[in-house]
Amino acid sequence: MITPRAAARAAGLPADELPAYVYDLAALDDHARAIRAALPGSVELYYAAKANPAPEILQALAPHVTGFEVSSGGELAHVRKAVPTLPVAFGGPGKTEAELRLALRLGTRRFHVESEGELRLLAELADEQPGDAPVDVLLRVNLPAGDDELDGAALAMGGRPGPFGLDPRRAEACLPLLRGRRLRLRGIHAHLASGLSEGAHLVVAARVADWARELADRHGLTLTEINVGGGMAVDYTRPAVPFDWNSYGAGLRDLAVRNPGLTLRVEPGRALTAYCGWYVTEVLDLKHSHGEAFAILRGGTHHLRTPAAKQHDQPFTVLPVDAWERPWPRPAALDEPVTLVGQLCTPKDTLARRVPVAELRVGDRVAFSMAGAYAWNISHHDFLMHPAPTFHFLD
Ligand SMILES: *Cc1c(COP(=O)(O)O)cnc(C)c1O
Repeated sequence: MITPRAAARAAGLPADELPAYVYDLAALDDHARAIRAALPGSVELYYAAKANPAPEILQALAPHVTGFEVSSGGELAHVRKAVPTLPVAFGGPGKTEAELRLALRLGTRRFHVESEGELRLLAELADEQPGDAPVDVLLRVNLPAGDDELDGAALAMGGRPGPFGLDPRRAEACLPLLRGRRLRLRGIHAHLASGLSEGAHLVVAARVADWARELADRHGLTLTEINVGGGMAVDYTRPAVPFDWNSYGAGLRDLAVRNPGLTLRVEPGRALTAYCGWYVTEVLDLKHSHGEAFAILRGGTHHLRTPAAKQHDQPFTVLPVDAWERPWPRPAALDEPVTLVGQLCTPKDTLARRVPVAELRVGDRVAFSMAGAYAWNISHHDFLMHPAPTFHFLD
């Protein structure tokens, strides 16, 4: 699965520009527009910048999103510079005093608070800002998951003991800490898992809304926002089957009708940008070992860590290169399963295992798809000191 524009660029790049990351920004624009259109107009769409914070990606998303979710002072400063006009929400565990100060100084007015300690610190710092608008707070709560609810999730971050968010009982204990401070409790945040189907995500969203309403009723509060997180599934084994945003949007519409006065917000990362990027490289060597074919590619998991981190086969397309100028026979795999590895001296440097190919030869190019999120920016670039890839953003 590669767009014609990305395939043309991947095939046309001079060999000394490989490996390369190629991003189709027009495809990203279409994808983000379709997601925005599938969601009810009242639902706010934030992009979780950690999925891929490249400025070109943030700027391509800007017309379609309400704002950006950032999870560190570094991301915050970076996003403010790349897209100065859109709001940011500052989430993530372990925020330091310096990061909170930076966020307030840069005008951040929405924080996802992860603990009582963080709330106390933020309250102190917000009180030091005389004359400024109050700071909006969502309490990130680790709600218990129903039986089997997060079973399909690739990465559960809640619903069980964990470092993320507040235990529901401790969230109640936070309420008195907000009184008389320059903090305004706006609502509840819950990002319980990554890799949820639309049905599972809606179940979680409904439960977050119920829990928020009950909390508000118990304490006579008015809560106006809930953020039901990101984690919309991206299925690397089925690149052509994306998250069903239309049925998800319809479910959110029902939820909004059942909860008048409550603004719903989502903050996907992967499902927005995974599909717009390709890691393109070439076959350097090809050998058979104990009866199995191995293709050794220029680059590897130090550029594209996603398959190593998630233990999957990164989907790919072979881009044949017919020219062969060496005076010896061209090594090839024909109609057989091939394991695609990189240049690192470790068996973990595997991008795809025993995937059947019709033909793969030394010198052919390979474009790994679904490399637009959690790819380059989560990789251990310096291990073995191979050169960095080149980057190409196609408008
Ligand atoms: C990582 C993260 C997201 C985005 O998750 P995706 O799986 O990329 O959609 C959203 N919110 C929070 C709090 C996160 O940590």
